Amino acid sequence: MVRHSKNNTASSVFTYAERKMTEYGTQRRRLGHDAKRSFDTCYLCLRTARAPIMLCTQGHVSCRECVLAGILEQKQAIARAEQRLEKQQQKDAAERQQQQRARDEREIDSHERRQVGLRDKRPGDGEPHDGKRARLLAGPRPAGGSEKKALTSFWIPSMAPTAAAAAKAPAPSVQCLAGAEAHPLRLKELVEVRFRTAANGDRLCPSCDRALRNSSKVDVLAPCGHAICHRCVSTFVLGSGACFVCQHKVSAKDVIRIDSEGTGFAAAGGQMVATRYDSALQA
Ligand SMILES: [Zn+2]
Ligand SMILES: [Zn+2]
Ligand SMILES: [Zn+2]
Ligand SMILES: [Zn+2]
Repeated sequence: MVRHSKNNTASSVFTYAERKMTEYGTQRRRLGHDAKRSFDTCYLCLRTARAPIMLCTQGHVSCRECVLAGILEQKQAIARAEQRLEKQQQKDAAERQQQQRARDEREIDSHERRQVGLRDKRPGDGEPHDGKRARLLAGPRPAGGSEKKALTSFWIPSMAPTAAAAAKAPAPSVQCLAGAEAHPLRLKELVEVRFRTAANGDRLCPSCDRALRNSSKVDVLAPCGHAICHRCVSTFVLGSGACFVCQHKVSAKDVIRIDSEGTGFAAAGGQMVATRYDSALQA
């Protein structure tokens, strides 16, 4: 049969267009400008950051409201995890103590039996006439002897070994989760950013009056919080050692670059392709 246009459904294999439509297997999408977070977008609520805008030491922008709520939530989670861990440790210690006590009791029991003349023999080894009596006196054997022998199939679900749910150690401190790698976040290290905003909402560089975009490198001076484009910072601010706006003394180590996800063009960097891995049957 001759193939006729895309509506051919009689084929035994998918066309390229059909395979794309199924969303089956690993998917790759090229990310455009719309998929990128703007440099002045709060990484927690994903909206344009509301004043007061805070900046962490690695250049992640957030609203103060969002970052404070995030810190509080993480602190509560850490406290909860610590409590869980403590409870688990207490339970483990109690269990160990109980096992030790049971072991001691067994030891004392067998010692007493030896004292009164009954030999502490395991069932089945020697002494045919005395074995049965000793076994009866020894009482029930610990589980795991003959009962397990009856069930020889290892795939019986009830015989599968179980691991006790272990409480995990909490994160050592509050973390900023904005970047690819988490880093410690401390409230007193946050810098309040001061943008110069135009009437249309654009953020402007106070020095050269250019609109700041994801493609421009935006630097924030940590002591005063003024956001200035990188070119002006390297030319004027670091040259004179003072902020262009408020004349606050600054040095090179006070400059924090605002993290931006790029523009969707290869030239402005950032992650360009998103991949969703999926196992698919290969025909
Ligand atoms: Zn926010
Ligand atoms: Zn950060
Ligand atoms: Zn500038
Ligand atoms: Zn300043």
